[in-house]
Amino acid sequence: MRDPWTLTSARELYDLPFNELLFRSQTVHRMNFDPNRVELAKLLNIKTGGCPEDCGYCSQSAHHASGLTATKLMKLEDVVSEARKAKENGATRYCMGAAWRSPKSRDEAAIVAMVKAVKSLGLETCMTLGMLSPEQAEAFADAGLDYYNHNIDTSENFYPAVVTSRRFEDRLETLAHVREAGIKVCSGGILGLGETEDDRIDMLVTLANLPTPPESVPINMLIPVAGTRLANASPVDPIEFIRIIALARLMMPSSSVRLTAGRTAMSDEMQALCFFAGANSIFIGDTLLTASNPGNDRDSRLLGRLGLTPVTMEMSGDL
Ligand code: SAM
Ligand code: SF4
Repeated sequence: MRDPWTLTSARELYDLPFNELLFRSQTVHRMNFDPNRVELAKLLNIKTGGCPEDCGYCSQSAHHASGLTATKLMKLEDVVSEARKAKENGATRYCMGAAWRSPKSRDEAAIVAMVKAVKSLGLETCMTLGMLSPEQAEAFADAGLDYYNHNIDTSENFYPAVVTSRRFEDRLETLAHVREAGIKVCSGGILGLGETEDDRIDMLVTLANLPTPPESVPINMLIPVAGTRLANASPVDPIEFIRIIALARLMMPSSSVRLTAGRTAMSDEMQALCFFAGANSIFIGDTLLTASNPGNDRDSRLLGRLGLTPVTMEMSGDL
């Protein structure tokens, strides 16, 4: 059992010469994963907009005039038909997100039905529905939910500058409820919120020091959305972004590190360096929840150029 990470110990790695940092992260990556395989996941918005939370980056917050039209919870048959298409496009994991502070009891039966139906297609299931009570986590675990996403998004210090409608501890509480229910955890964050490099590193320290680190760690690059508080945020330095990917790999060697939002704005070369640094999962398709994503044609070209092949369902237990 290693000593807990500290900002100092993590920063020492982060500040290594770039080639040394990526040599170390690629070495650790190879010790845990096939470096030429990438997990393909698909994200679907099962309920759009009208969220009561005030996350500064989010187009779905009711506090923002982002022009998004709110929708009701999708019908089961529509979710299943989208999941089938994702599987045909090589996805092994299907992530369903709802713009909620937390699910209401009236929504639970529909969510359970979606988990069961998508799982019966032979896909790993993931939900991201906001905060969960222990009882809700248990109910979704009983339905066979494989993963639950709940991002801490940034450091504890910087969190109040991004979200005021809930506390950082609320996020950690939900992660504990999910873990106690026996569901695998997907939790990461966003770069580009106005945070410092120390905030980014501290976010990883929090995740890596959880009793069991998340099995999946999504790292997003902010997509500035008109009408949100962060519409005019400064862009992230690409080298700093890649350093965080490498650090996530070194601090959570057996977790899948997902190169998540923001890829549309990343060059192939930047994405290639992220994969070399230890990223080994992406979302496919041309949209995330509401934001754009490169789409299957551009991603097939990129993965082809890099000789990266998708993880298959038979292998996906490794991720
Ligand atoms: N309502 C659920 C919740 O907040 O837990 C939905 C989670 S969904 C996966 C939202 C996540 O996507 C956020 O935690 C954030 O990491 C990412 N995200 C949302 N808007 C984004 C944006 N404009 N740019 C980059 N990442 C974004
Ligand atoms: Fe709501 Fe989630 Fe968007 Fe925050 S990130 S405003 S909780 S949908």
